Amino acid sequence: MFIEPNFGSRHISRKNETGWIEVICGSMFSGKTEELIRRLNRAKISNLKVEIFKPATDKRYHITNVVSHDRKEIRSTPVEFANDILLLAADCDLVGIDEAQFFDHAIVDVAVKLANKGKRVIIAGLDMDFMARPFAPMNDLMAVAEFVTKTHAICMSCGSTASYTYRLDDSNKQVVLGEKDLYQARCRRCYHMGMETKIKAAKS
Ligand code: ZN
Repeated sequence: MFIEPNFGSRHISRKNETGWIEVICGSMFSGKTEELIRRLNRAKISNLKVEIFKPATDKRYHITNVVSHDRKEIRSTPVEFANDILLLAADCDLVGIDEAQFFDHAIVDVAVKLANKGKRVIIAGLDMDFMARPFAPMNDLMAVAEFVTKTHAICMSCGSTASYTYRLDDSNKQVVLGEKDLYQARCRRCYHMGMETKIKAAKS
């Protein structure tokens, strides 16, 4: 489990505090949002001012709450553009960002600016897309973060540790919103076996 860092005098005094960036990433169904909510709730106990933002495009469950797959939830603000977060988060100590892979690339600069101002920034998102390609801008966020945590799911084919998000349809679009009807967490082996089957089916 990730142990929250205690840089400088952050938990004693708000003066001379330093900011930092944490990234929580993994496949779908790996518990990213649960981990984000856990860290945010711990920060709330220490009376830090917490704000959570998510892209306005992700409306799968609820318009103003970040809801994890196990239905734990926490209030959040949907924003259209990454730059909106700079203004909205001006007076908070901790900034949570969920589903960061759906934000424009400006989110990288926004995270850096917030951390430079002394805020703790916690970002959750998919590390790879359904083609197992790095899911921009998460790869750049991982590069600028002090701490990166990879969460793992359970392979829905064989029960091994899963790091891949396998999509059950044949579309080539990078972003198709869906849940267990459309996506499976898979291990490396089962992911590639599935992709090979798809390629063979497309050729025949
Ligand atoms: Zn497997």
